[in-house]
Amino acid sequence: MLRTVPHFDRIGEENAFAVLARATALAAGGMDVINLGIGQPDFRTPDHIVEAAIKALRDGHHGYTPATGLIACREAVARRTLTMTGMEVSPETIMIMPGGKPTMYAAIVMFGEPGAEILYPDPGFPIYRSMIEFTGAKPVPVPVREENGFAFSAEETLALINENTRLLIINSPANPTGGVTPKAEIDKLVKGLEAWPDVAILSDEIYDAMTYDGETHTSLLAYPEIRDRLVVLNGWSKTWAMTGWRMGWSIWPNSGKGAGLYDKVRKLAVNCWSCVNAPSQFAGIAAIDGPQDDVDRMMAAFDRRRKLVVERMNAIEGVSCTTPKGAFYAFPNIGATGWQARKLATSLLDETGVATIGGPDFGILGEGFIRLSYANSEENIERAIERIGGFLAG
Ligand code: PLP
Repeated sequence: MLRTVPHFDRIGEENAFAVLARATALAAGGMDVINLGIGQPDFRTPDHIVEAAIKALRDGHHGYTPATGLIACREAVARRTLTMTGMEVSPETIMIMPGGKPTMYAAIVMFGEPGAEILYPDPGFPIYRSMIEFTGAKPVPVPVREENGFAFSAEETLALINENTRLLIINSPANPTGGVTPKAEIDKLVKGLEAWPDVAILSDEIYDAMTYDGETHTSLLAYPEIRDRLVVLNGWSKTWAMTGWRMGWSIWPNSGKGAGLYDKVRKLAVNCWSCVNAPSQFAGIAAIDGPQDDVDRMMAAFDRRRKLVVERMNAIEGVSCTTPKGAFYAFPNIGATGWQARKLATSLLDETGVATIGGPDFGILGEGFIRLSYANSEENIERAIERIGGFLAG
C-alpha cells in the first residue's frame, strides 16, 4: 500500500452523505424511502438564478475569473452584508468560494497545527472536527445544550480558552440542532474575548437568513472590536437552494492584526481551485440582487414543516422535541426510548425506510438525539413520523 502522510488518516466524514447513499440504494431496490437525512433544501433553485447562469455562458463568460471572485459578485455580497447586518464590508475582504466548506478548510488549516487548540460546537457540523484533526491541532468541543434551546453559552466557551487556543468556531443558526444563539450571549462572548486578543474566530453564518418566530440572527460582523480577527463563512447553498452549484463566500480580516489573511486565502485559492466557475458567479449575483419571493415561499414552507415536526415528534412516547429557531433541522431527544441514537437511525432506515442521522454523528454530546432535516414535503414528513412512532411503539 502506498504510504500517505499521517494526517490523511485523520480525515473524518459527513455521515449524511453515507446515509444518502444507503437511502438511494434502498430506494433503487424498491423500498419506499423518505429522506429526512440530508441537509439540502428540496426546492429548485429559482428560475431567474438559473437563467442568469445560462445567459452568462451564452455571453461567453466561460473563462477564469479573479481568484477572489468577480468584483461584481463581491460587490453583491457586500450589498447583501450591509442589508443583513448593517455593516459595511469592503469587496477587498470578500472571497467567492466553491461552497461553504472551503472557507472552513481555509480558516482551520491557517490556524491548526500540533500544539494548537481549536474550539468547535458539539453537537455541530462534523467537518469542523474532521478538519481540526487533519491539521494535528487539538479539537476542543464546546457543549451545545438542549436546556439552553441549543444556543451556545458564552461562559462555557470562554472557560475553555487557554493560551494554546488559536481559533474559536461558532455556528448560529446551527446545524444539527436548529439552535439560534441570542444577541445577549454573543455580546457576552465578544466581551470575554477581549481577554484573548490572539484567538481568531470563525463564525459560520450559512443559515443567517433562516430563522423563525421573529428570532433574529446576530452576525459577528456587528462587533467592530473583533473585526480584525474574524472570518465569516456564508454562501448560497441553503438560502437560495443552490447546494450543487458550489457557491459560497467568506469575509476576511484585511487590516490590523488580521492584515495578510485575505492574501493568504487568495493564494490558497490560486493553488487549489483558481476561481469559482464563472457562470455560477453570475447566478450568485442574480440570487442576491433579484426578487426574493421564492426564498420567502421556501421559508414559509420550512416554517410549516418545522411546526409539524415538533408537534408530531412530541406526540411520540419517549421523544421530546425542542422547537428549532433556525435552519431546517429538528434535533429530538430520543433518550427516554431506550435506543442508542445511531442504532435507532440505522434501524429506522432499514426497517421503515425513513432516513435520519444519529446525533453522535455530530459529536459525542449528540448521543440521545437524532437529526431530522425537514427538507421534505409535509405529506412525507407526516408519513415518516407516523412510521417512526409505529416503530418505537414496537
Ligand atoms: N456550514 C454548516 C453549518 C452546514 O450545515 C453546511 C452544510 O450542510 C455547510 C457549512 C457547508 O455548506 P456547503 O454545502 O455550501 O459547502
